[in-house]
Amino acid sequence: MTPPQPGRRALVTGSLQGIGLAIATALAEEQCHLVLHGLGDAGQQERARQTVLAAGALSATVHDHDLSDAAQVQALMAAVLADGPLDILVNNAGIQQTVALAEVPLDLWQRFLAVNLSAAFLTMQAALPGMAARGYGRVVNIASVHGLVASPHKAPYVASKFGLVGVSKVAALEYARAGSREQGGVTVNCICPGWTETTLLEPQILDRAAQVGGDREAGVRSLLAEKQPSQRMSLPVEIAQLAAWLCHPIAHNVTGAAIPVEGGWTSQ
Ligand code: NAD
Repeated sequence: MTPPQPGRRALVTGSLQGIGLAIATALAEEQCHLVLHGLGDAGQQERARQTVLAAGALSATVHDHDLSDAAQVQALMAAVLADGPLDILVNNAGIQQTVALAEVPLDLWQRFLAVNLSAAFLTMQAALPGMAARGYGRVVNIASVHGLVASPHKAPYVASKFGLVGVSKVAALEYARAGSREQGGVTVNCICPGWTETTLLEPQILDRAAQVGGDREAGVRSLLAEKQPSQRMSLPVEIAQLAAWLCHPIAHNVTGAAIPVEGGWTSQ
């Protein structure tokens, strides 16, 4: 594989925990400058910063803008770009909640679209022109298996993630000719995880455990049995290694893809 690229500057949204922190750590291991982001207290911010510095990040700063507010997303990007150019943008921050379509309150619907979709649109709008001008740029959007197929009781989540896959493909097309193979070009891709072990999943695991009348492990087994043929949960580091690979120059011709990491879920 093409060797790591020290000195790239990467923003990973929602990177104080879970998949986002794993991606930030993987990029830190390749000696990137890390711009961390997420909603968390000072202690969580500092723990995330120390984690990426220990992994090899050349520098690490933290932002805490609320991505449900478009003006805050724009303020985040203005602040990040004021500090220097951005080479890598990972739109990872996301929210999840299960509710029957007929019972989705309008404000919940709008919050899902704002955090899971509009925020990524706005960050790409701010970052991509500079990437194109420099001939190298990577956008990795963390969508979901629910950007490829639906499940009941997930209307806002599925709508937002299908939208994210769609807008990523448009961005990939618009920037496909930017840069050269030597520079690395500009690519935009989605990763589409299935069940992955983070706190985001806990409410669904506990709901399922209650439904089947078992403990947490019974809840996990039931979720896997229903959807994920491998019967194995993914770990955040597995998503992170793929994200890091997409950022290598060798991946210059992988663009507009929506890559499933879901144990065969969408092959059924
Ligand atoms: P997580 O809950 O551990 O992390 C989510 C992050 O997003 C947190 O850092 C949080 O602060 C941030 N965030 C949430 N709302 C925000 C807001 N309004 N403003 C700013 N930041 C906000 O979740 P995770 O499992 O690591 O999920 C990361 C991404 O992966 C999400 O987009 C999620 O949809 C996607 N995903 C997760 C799974 C899974 O099984 N865990 C599966 C498919 C896709």
